[in-house]
Amino acid sequence: MPYYDFECLDCKNITTIKLSVKDIENGVKVKCNQCNSYNTQRYFQPIAVNTSVHNQKEYIGCGEHCRCFSDN
Ligand SMILES: [Zn+2]
Repeated sequence: MPYYDFECLDCKNITTIKLSVKDIENGVKVKCNQCNSYNTQRYFQPIAVNTSVHNQKEYIGCGEHCRCFSDN
């Protein structure tokens, strides 16, 4: 079963829960795992832009003894 994220409207906590598609179709109420409120709604994570480019930059230089960028 897929995982779904629900945002608590009371405390803004994100609860990730495993639900069936049928549960989603039935509009199942998900309990916040922080404040136990049922005042939750589906949360769609924003798609990060340019994440791959950012990660590439972070990978320059694999470590102190890395020879990737040696002069030879
Ligand atoms: Zn909550």
